[in-house]
Amino acid sequence: MLGRNRFSETQPTVEILKILINETQIGLGIDRLAAQLKEHYKDQPLTIVSIMTGSLVMLADLIRLLEMPVRISLIQATSYRGGTKSGDLIIHDHMMLDIKDRDVLLIDDIFDTGKTLVQVTKRLNDMGPKSIKTAVFLNKQGQSTVTAVPDFVVFEIPNEFVVGYGLDYEDLYRNMPYVGVLEESDLKNHVAT
Ligand code: 5GP
Ligand code: MG
Repeated sequence: MLGRNRFSETQPTVEILKILINETQIGLGIDRLAAQLKEHYKDQPLTIVSIMTGSLVMLADLIRLLEMPVRISLIQATSYRGGTKSGDLIIHDHMMLDIKDRDVLLIDDIFDTGKTLVQVTKRLNDMGPKSIKTAVFLNKQGQSTVTAVPDFVVFEIPNEFVVGYGLDYEDLYRNMPYVGVLEESDLKNHVAT
């Protein structure tokens, strides 16, 4: 049965008690972003580069609201870590489309220290695009260690570790349709797979 509480039945590994952004709010936020992008790019073709894996859910929702010609490219940025702390970044760009002379929108799930977005933007810049803008689903307030800021932000959030709507903890919980705060007390129910 595709009930709204299906998640808790099928994935009993953790119960997220604190919902930060619910499904309705997420839908409205992505609508807002799509409207801003339409305003900015009008009918011009756009190449969206989605940082895997966290931004895939946002990508799927966003592209269906856009009407200009859209190409989709994937890039992977991973750090040496499970858990909740950032580590050194490795960028895999073997799945990238050619973006030379293209208008590019780079999207990521969350802007925390900002290192991921800055380093991936640098890599894309070397590929000779016409323009690059950045959009993030979440912007964690007060955590940035870089001077760059994302061009488009769907939601500002406090400094908490969040999961759901693409965001993971040890590769789980990306499929939750809302954003929840993963608190220390929730982890007792976390079962590593
Ligand atoms: P940054 O490089 O900006 O510090 O971190 C960006 C990356 O760190 C994101 O793509 C995401 O993978 C991870 N990250 C940062 N904060 C969170 C968080 O609160 N929850 C989750 N699940 N991942 C986070
Ligand atoms: Mg990530």
